[in-house]
Amino acid sequence: MAIFGEKCDRCGKRTRHKEEDKPICEVCANEMALMVKAQGEVPRQCPVDGAQMTKEIAHMMVIDLCPECKGVWLDSGELERFKGGVETEALLLMARGISYPLG
Ligand SMILES: [Zn+2]
Ligand SMILES: [Zn+2]
Repeated sequence: MAIFGEKCDRCGKRTRHKEEDKPICEVCANEMALMVKAQGEVPRQCPVDGAQMTKEIAHMMVIDLCPECKGVWLDSGELERFKGGVETEALLLMARGISYPLG
């Protein structure tokens, strides 16, 4: 095994974490697990315009993103996990369509 681990199959970061014999860093593994869970949930409708929202993963949370108004909606439990202002700010930026470097 290489000293610094192998490159994550998803993001290219060095990792020693493996899943199904593929190098996947823990961050990506967690995100993918969240995504699988999110895919199994019923899509929600935007409370503003009734559009069907898509599930996205941001900051280790499943969020609902409206393609119409670009609104970002969180599950009530997820909102409580927003303790610091940094993530909230990042999400707000994302909601306005301003991109920021992920990771
Ligand atoms: Zn990764
Ligand atoms: Zn909307």
